[in-house]
Amino acid sequence: MQLIDTHCHLDVGDFDADREEVLARARHAGISDIIVPAIDFEHLEQVRSLTLSTPELHPAYGLHPMFMDQHRPEHISLLDQWLDRNHAVAVGECGLDFYLPGYDASAQLKLLEAQLYIAQNHRLPVIIHCRKAMDQVLKLLREHRPLTGVLHSFNGSPQQAEQAMELGFKFGIGGPVTYERAKRMRALIAALPAETLLLETDAPDQPVAGHQGERNEPSLMIHVLHALAGIRNETPEAVAEYTTRNAKTLFGLTAKEKLSPSAEPA
Ligand SMILES: [Zn+2]
Repeated sequence: MQLIDTHCHLDVGDFDADREEVLARARHAGISDIIVPAIDFEHLEQVRSLTLSTPELHPAYGLHPMFMDQHRPEHISLLDQWLDRNHAVAVGECGLDFYLPGYDASAQLKLLEAQLYIAQNHRLPVIIHCRKAMDQVLKLLREHRPLTGVLHSFNGSPQQAEQAMELGFKFGIGGPVTYERAKRMRALIAALPAETLLLETDAPDQPVAGHQGERNEPSLMIHVLHALAGIRNETPEAVAEYTTRNAKTLFGLTAKEKLSPSAEPA
């Protein structure tokens, strides 16, 4: 069984002490590929060097809405230039977070819109983080068609899911689906078409049921696979097959070779 973790922050300090062991456990769990999205300008180089040194890791580069304090206006053009020089499978993690106390909606909207332009220019999918702002995200995605990508850790309404599918977006399914009390979300995910679903961990965050309070890691995605299979009345093998195919198609993972910029300094 081959699995792909489409969202894992393996570059962050939480993994510094045992990153190799985490990767070994992921391989043992059948995870062939992991997408590592950067969250701010400082992390671009970290994600780049980590993904260059480990063949199954793939970089995405973006400016995350939870770290508005770290972003500077010039980071937008620097991100654009970075993507001219460095191979990436997506732009992200980017998005809107209207759950944060004291959030600045217009600054977040501006930052996301700039990154949607960058994704279009570089013909890359986007990895979207969204809390309490799904309608605003969908509006921007509609205005920036054609664009593909994933709504990571999707938790919207059936109507919002419908709109996202019309735009050609996929849904990232992770730890939250393993909680039985998440009845509304589980019912919605059970009804979504197979070709729209991707597996993810968001490690070190979003632990699976039974591991609350612990650091999350890719090998634990097996619990997400089994939860998804259970609520959809499918076999884990079937879910693995289509989620892996969806991830490869969206992020272009079939072409494994990393292009020439790796030889040049960043
Ligand atoms: Zn994330």
